[in-house]
Amino acid sequence: MRGSVEEESEDRGDRKEKGFDRRIAELGIRIKDADQWKVRDDVFDEVTLLALYRLVHKKHLTTLGGPISTGKEGNVFYGEKDGKPLAIKIYLIRTANFRAMTEYIDGDPRFSHVRRSRKEIIFAWTRKEFSNLKRARKAGVPVPEPYSFDRNILLMEFLGEGQAPFPQIREVELPDPGATYREIVGYIEALFSRARLVHGDLSEYNVLFGDRPVLIDMGQAVTLDHPRALQFLVRDIANINRFFSDKCEVMGEREIFQRIAGERLAGP
Ligand code: ADP
Ligand code: MN
Repeated sequence: MRGSVEEESEDRGDRKEKGFDRRIAELGIRIKDADQWKVRDDVFDEVTLLALYRLVHKKHLTTLGGPISTGKEGNVFYGEKDGKPLAIKIYLIRTANFRAMTEYIDGDPRFSHVRRSRKEIIFAWTRKEFSNLKRARKAGVPVPEPYSFDRNILLMEFLGEGQAPFPQIREVELPDPGATYREIVGYIEALFSRARLVHGDLSEYNVLFGDRPVLIDMGQAVTLDHPRALQFLVRDIANINRFFSDKCEVMGEREIFQRIAGERLAGP
C-alpha cells in the first residue's frame, strides 16, 4: 500500500485548511460556472488537483466546466481546450471498487504488472480506458476520441451539443430502434474481431445517441486473452438484447455469440 492511506488523510487536512478555491486559484486553473461545483470537495483531492494542474500546464485543457455526471466510481465534467469542448473523466481515488478493478486488470496482459496500491490501480484503470478507446477507434468503432490522460484524469472528445451531452439510449425515443440495435451488435462484433476487445459493461447506460449510437465507458474493457472475456461478451449481448427486445426484433443471443466468437470456439 506504500502509505497511501496516510497520504490521503494528509491531503484531506491540507485541502480543508486552504480551501478549494484558493488551491485552484494558486494552480491557475480557469473555472467556468463555479456555482455548479457542489461536488468539488469529493472529487478534488490533492492527487487530482495536481493531475489537473499538469494537464492545464501542458495546455491539454484550458477551462474546467461544470459536472455532467457524478457516479460512484468517477465523475465526468465539461471542459474546454481553447474554446473547443472536451469531456473530463475523473476516477475517484477514495470510492473506487478496487477489488473489482483488480480482477479486470489482472487478467489483461497489458496491465497485469501494475503494482497494487489504491492509487496505482486507479491510474492503471485510467490508462486502460485511454488505450481501449484508442484501440476501439482504430477498429472503426464509434467511441469518443481519447486526447490525453494524467494519473486519474482522462480527457476525451465531448459527445454532445453545446455543453449538453448526448442522451443515453435509454433516455431517448430512438428514431429506428432496429437499425440502432443492429449497429450496436455490429460494434460488439468489430470490437471483438478487429480491436480484439470485449466492452464488458455494455448496456443502455453506456451507449450515447447523437445521430448514431456511440459506445462510452471503456475502463473495464478487456482483451480477448482475459480469462473472462467470453463471459463478458455473453453478458454484453444479453444486456443489449434485453434492452431492445421490446423495441424491435432481436437476434438470438446464441446466434450473435456464434457469429462473433464462433470461429474461435464451439460455444459459451
Ligand atoms: P461511469 O458510468 O463510470 O460513471 P461513463 O463513462 O459511463 O462513467 O460516463 C458517465 C456519463 O457521463 C455518461 O452517461 C454521459 O452522460 C457522460 N459522458 C461520459 N463520457 C462523455 C463524453 N465523451 N462526452 C459527453 N458526455 C460523456
Ligand atoms: Mn457508465
